[in-house]
Amino acid sequence: MPASHLDRAVGAVIGSAVGDALGAPFEFGPEGAFSARFPSRGEGGEMCGGGGWDPGEATDDTQMAVLIAESLLECEGLELPDVFRRFQRWAAAEPKDIGLQTEAVLSSGDPWDTAAALHFQVSQRAAGNGALMRAAPAAVYFAPYGSKATMDAARCLSALTHGDRAAWEGTAIFHELTRVTLAGDDPLTAVEETLRHVHPDHVERYATVLAPDWHPDQATEFNGAVWPCLGSALWALRTTASHEEAVRAAVDLGGDTDTVAAVTGGLAGAVYGIGAVPRRWTELLHVPLPGFGERVLDAGELAALARGLVTAP
Ligand SMILES: [Mg+2]
Repeated sequence: MPASHLDRAVGAVIGSAVGDALGAPFEFGPEGAFSARFPSRGEGGEMCGGGGWDPGEATDDTQMAVLIAESLLECEGLELPDVFRRFQRWAAAEPKDIGLQTEAVLSSGDPWDTAAALHFQVSQRAAGNGALMRAAPAAVYFAPYGSKATMDAARCLSALTHGDRAAWEGTAIFHELTRVTLAGDDPLTAVEETLRHVHPDHVERYATVLAPDWHPDQATEFNGAVWPCLGSALWALRTTASHEEAVRAAVDLGGDTDTVAAVTGGLAGAVYGIGAVPRRWTELLHVPLPGFGERVLDAGELAALARGLVTAP
């Protein structure tokens, strides 16, 4: 039976979070480290923790995603200054992990609408995957508003921390592919049409990494960059047949494993629905929110948040 819209939406949010938590202990590790340790599927124990992370602990990817989700619900829409304030409050509480780019922008003291652009003017480096990694909840929330609105929202949310349009366009593609998936369509066949709505300066690079015959070995940058990260997520989806297999394949690529698996897990969760996300992974999942009291969301609370995003007016 195909997953319902609600199953897919909850699957996207939780599916991304479990990818993040599963990949975290393997960050910056070599290719194949995950399957070397956990050779067969379904055995359990993969939410192993390590590298400073407890088993099932979600990292900055999901923490920032939750901040966006709660802002959308509490403000009843996209209030960019509010999202930026939440990011700043979180960053000031010294989370265990935070992207270099994101930290520099959030701690710059510059206003929400210029901080990322000013940082980019100086650094000329802002095409990381740090905006793409946190996109699942907003992709769910904006899906009913259609293609243009969801892609524009992705660009605005990305621009809060990333001044490079490459990061905006990658996140916009993720939003749109999630939108068509929630509607029951195949994200892989939607790539071509989605690229038509990407800024012309950025079509070629995304067309390359999203092509059906692209393989992560062909990446020209580390997968902490937005292009190979998104390309790897699509590759993992294309070459597997379940959420579990897709996320395993993503973590096994090595490098920025938590984020590549978070992006993969978000799309795969939307494709296969929450019922396909392994229970033994969600049981251990938890999302600390530094700066917001001692709050730690479990999978049930994260699922409730996702349902709220679907049913929001
Ligand atoms: Mg992370």
